[in-house]
Amino acid sequence: MSEYPYAYDAPVSQALFDRAAAVTPGGVNSPVRAFRAVGGTPRFMVSGTGPYLTDADGREYVDLVCSWGPMILGHAHPDVIAAVQDAVARGTSFGTPGEGEVALAEEMVARIGPLEQVRLVSSGTEATMSAIRLARGFTRRSKVIKFAGCYHGHVDSLLAAAGSGVATFALPDTPGVTGAQAGDTIVLPYNDLDAVHAAFQAHPGEIACVITEASPGNMGVVPPLPGFNQGLKDVCAEHGALYISDEVMTGFRTSRAGWYGIDGVEPDLMTFGKVMGGGFPAAAFGGRADVMGHLAPAGPVYQAGTLSGNPVATAAGLAQLRLLDDAAYAKVNDVSARIQALVSDALAKEGVAHTVQNASSMFSVFFTDRPVRDYEDAKAQESYRFTAFFHSMLANGVYLPPSSFESWFVSTAHDERAIQRIADALPAAARAAAEATAA
Ligand SMILES: *Cc1c(COP(=O)(O)O)cnc(C)c1O
Repeated sequence: MSEYPYAYDAPVSQALFDRAAAVTPGGVNSPVRAFRAVGGTPRFMVSGTGPYLTDADGREYVDLVCSWGPMILGHAHPDVIAAVQDAVARGTSFGTPGEGEVALAEEMVARIGPLEQVRLVSSGTEATMSAIRLARGFTRRSKVIKFAGCYHGHVDSLLAAAGSGVATFALPDTPGVTGAQAGDTIVLPYNDLDAVHAAFQAHPGEIACVITEASPGNMGVVPPLPGFNQGLKDVCAEHGALYISDEVMTGFRTSRAGWYGIDGVEPDLMTFGKVMGGGFPAAAFGGRADVMGHLAPAGPVYQAGTLSGNPVATAAGLAQLRLLDDAAYAKVNDVSARIQALVSDALAKEGVAHTVQNASSMFSVFFTDRPVRDYEDAKAQESYRFTAFFHSMLANGVYLPPSSFESWFVSTAHDERAIQRIADALPAAARAAAEATAA
């Protein structure tokens, strides 16, 4: 039985979770799926169609996670499914080059001016790890600047937390990452250009690159302040370092050309994943041809992958990208804006302090009345209110990200019926948030 007042029983999911826990640490293959931040039984999903997911207990939910971003056309889009079936029928992996990976790379390069060449990989983690290696190989420098609250996958050197003072060297964020691996990483507060300038002053000729989420979504949605990304680009150019824009989440989600299509700041390197894989493991890094030319076999920096450019994954990604025209982005932005307004109205009616922030269709709801500009601001919210809100929405058929530090995602498939179900679920959830007390 659950101790959460708004949870209902999910016996089949619970039985699966018990089975899973016997053979998999914590019962999941990626930690956030375990519901640890909100408690209760994670729902094991069996199918998805359009904006809906169906769990193992036979309950249907409006999905506001969309696989953490990739399913921008909704689940089981017929054109994507057809492309996948066609590819699968021709064989699933050859370990040779193939036309599909060329076509996907061409589609990406055509959309994004500064993206001259790409290398395909299988996860966002691999993309950022490889981009950092390439930046270090290209510049022959060791140190990397990242920002607190930005997530770039589980790359050792990027799983580092800020040390005591600003611009001190980072400490490992997790056992298993050594001090040496974290020690070349400088963690700075997000949206703080002065801190970046100070770090470059303190370490002349040592900084290989600055990596940032193009518009962060992994501490909740915290867009860059006007001029921040341009400032990063400029300080990198001034000091001979590379500016790496991590567009794994924003890429092909926030516009046809991702966040680059919004702010126009030209990165030296970029990373992609999520939407570009159409629900399959496909990701990429790319950028300036002169930098990418340092990658093996063209150059000396080694990088490889048995399943890189997999024909099924690239077919899914290409089919999805080809459907993502300006009308599709207008649609997801509109759906997102409507849901943001519904949530905000419901919370305001119950007098719940909140701030809704968005980057195109990505948005999140912070339980604080102050703007959230960095990770410290995000941590200052009343997360216990989110827990109550989350469970009420879940009980009424709306699946939210199970943490208050995540973006919510919508798709072109979120139609009037789906939006109405969200609207119907909100009053009770807002009341639950209002009545929640800190544990
Ligand atoms: C999801 C994400 C990653 C990691 O991608 P995986 O495919 O989960 O390894 C990296 N960077 C950002 C910004 C992300 O949102």
